[in-house]
Amino acid sequence: MQVEVLEPHGFCAGVTAALRKALALVRDGAADTVYCLHELVHNEIVVGDLTRRGFKFVESVADIPEGATALFSAHGVSPAVRRAAAARRLKVMDATCPFVTRVHTAARDFAARGLPVVVIGHENHAEVKGIVGEVSDVAGHSPAITANSPTLSTALGGAQTIGVVSQTTMNADEVAALVAQLKERFAVETMAEVCNATKERQDAVKAFDGDALLVLGSANSSNTRRLMEVARCRAFRAGTLEEVRALDLRGVRRLGVTSGASTPESFLAEAVAYLKEDGK
Ligand code: SF4
Repeated sequence: MQVEVLEPHGFCAGVTAALRKALALVRDGAADTVYCLHELVHNEIVVGDLTRRGFKFVESVADIPEGATALFSAHGVSPAVRRAAAARRLKVMDATCPFVTRVHTAARDFAARGLPVVVIGHENHAEVKGIVGEVSDVAGHSPAITANSPTLSTALGGAQTIGVVSQTTMNADEVAALVAQLKERFAVETMAEVCNATKERQDAVKAFDGDALLVLGSANSSNTRRLMEVARCRAFRAGTLEEVRALDLRGVRRLGVTSGASTPESFLAEAVAYLKEDGK
């Protein structure tokens, strides 16, 4: 079996920066006093490593002891979460990716101008919750609505102009198609684009013309799942070496390998070494 690693793959700038912040806390000997709100990045290997180094992971600011250090994940948080952290006198370290912050700023600006705000994204994803919370923070503005909501038409009512933003890790083609659909009905002001890292990794996958693709990354990683979706061949996912070993790759002659934006390079190297050995 021929194994071909696609470029680019793996850590994006936002994940690299978030991990740098976390590892600085390790060097300062402070990791075991830090509470990370949500997974710092959506990868089980990274979260496992940080847990072993002493970080604690919680899902709510209310679970962080007053006065402790809170590390906000790369996916960003809503203004309400920031206020809750301040009320608990938490020392905040913010690892929000700057590309996510740009989306918050755009959504807030649309809301401040009174435009209904549509968010293209998965409503239960931490990033989308933060963006929706940003819009809700604008006094008197109606809540943001996700593009796939069954109540989208009702919510937009008689609006003529709407603001549209997107979760940064969506399928770039689907975002473009949804924006085009909305433009048929409304004047659309938009910053609905996936981030560069997401687009570049998706473009590399779409250009791969082998007979199977393996995406290395965790099941809860949005960008990992989107890489599987855009593949033009059979696609597999594995989050650990055990999962790689369990794959049934019989009949695959040319396998492409890529990894999500939060998947460590060390895992990719291990997986590729195993696949090359196994495929001899
Ligand atoms: S995938 Fe994009 S938005 Fe998310 S952390 Fe990486 S660069 Fe930032």
